[in-house]
Amino acid sequence: DVILEESVNFTSLLLPNHVLKGLTECGFRKPSPIQFKAIPLGRCGFGNKIITKVNMLTINTTFADLIVKSKSGTGKTLVFSTVALETVIVARNQLQVLILVPTREIAVQIQDVIRGIGCFVDGLMVESFIGGLPVEEDVKKAKQCHIAVGAPGRVKHLISLGALSTEFVRLFVLDEADKLMETSFQGDINEIYNSLPQRKQLIASSATYPQELDTFLTNYMLSPTHVSSENETPILLGLKQFVAVIKTSNPNVVQLMKSKNEKLLEIFSKISFTQCLVFSNYQTRAESISNYLNQKGWNSTFISAAQSQTKRLEAVNNLKEFKNRILLSTDLTSRGIDAPNVDLVINYDIPQDAVTYLHRMGRAGRYGSSGICINLALDGDELKQLQTILGMIGATNVSISILPLLNEKSID
Ligand code: ADP
Ligand code: MG
Repeated sequence: DVILEESVNFTSLLLPNHVLKGLTECGFRKPSPIQFKAIPLGRCGFGNKIITKVNMLTINTTFADLIVKSKSGTGKTLVFSTVALETVIVARNQLQVLILVPTREIAVQIQDVIRGIGCFVDGLMVESFIGGLPVEEDVKKAKQCHIAVGAPGRVKHLISLGALSTEFVRLFVLDEADKLMETSFQGDINEIYNSLPQRKQLIASSATYPQELDTFLTNYMLSPTHVSSENETPILLGLKQFVAVIKTSNPNVVQLMKSKNEKLLEIFSKISFTQCLVFSNYQTRAESISNYLNQKGWNSTFISAAQSQTKRLEAVNNLKEFKNRILLSTDLTSRGIDAPNVDLVINYDIPQDAVTYLHRMGRAGRYGSSGICINLALDGDELKQLQTILGMIGATNVSISILPLLNEKSID
């Protein structure tokens, strides 16, 4: 998924020197296929800007609008981040790039990536704006940043306060675009979009691409270029999927959780893994499973939307920095979060839909590494739900098998 046949490296993309140096400094040498395809296209927005600057032509800047689609963990962040760094003119003390994301944790992650590869750009200010932290500090930061990464609610708030001024934005990015398209975000996104200047470049990025996303994006883009690096299944090659069928004679919640908890312990003791994310459909469940595991000697923490933002960021950081091996989570972290050592994803509860399934699974197997996804499915409705999902993602031919170590029946 991430190996390019050609012997290209970032130098072949003829990026500006400061961007190239930043990429090298952060350890990036060879572009992934999606980066190789999409970065040059994204840079067309920059070309247009030069032409309009010398006042030669009126150019339809939507020419360089991009829809970037590629599997989880294939490096979409660097696509818009390199374009953003090239676009920014630091001498202008204005907000020039605005990146919207669905969760606060992703915002901070992208801010860190851009700061990393932007380390050779003197005076560059990259800030994240997320709810749950004091707005006063954001107001100060908003007045002096070139690149803003934020969740729609907080960004809209800052614009309405007059703190974040969007009139000079040249690049507008929607990461996890299909999530941002959901009704709960639409009002905020529309308002933010309406505050932007007419001429700007738009990049939308996503691993999953439902049909309605095209319709949604036509509200904002005229004739976007679609770039994707794949034509086969949306599943990463390095990921293996398994199911452990849970059988209980009396499937009430208590009994169900008892059986699943025991299965978790069995998995942890029999399967070797570096780091693990366990997804549940309920906030309270994530917390109680974590408590159970801790009692049984498996050190774990949990993250939930009910926690303070500081706690949430701490949980994600601990995972990324390997201070914590097992994290229990709701779908709060099923998208976008990049913790490269996660090689085991467990669906304690089967997710509601195929898109969520793909995103959860994509937390393992980042950038070509291998990983395992294990589904704990209650015999009956949950197993049926899983089969439906697998059918939808075309995984019926892919080896979804029973856990070899755990004596279970195969699904077919
Ligand atoms: P996506 O947004 O497509 O899910 P990310 O942008 O989060 O993926 O990148 C996934 C991981 O791959 C990150 O850990 C990132 O540092 C790494 N990565 C991205 N591009 C490269 C590259 N060209 N070379 C090496 N590692 C890369
Ligand atoms: Mg991403």
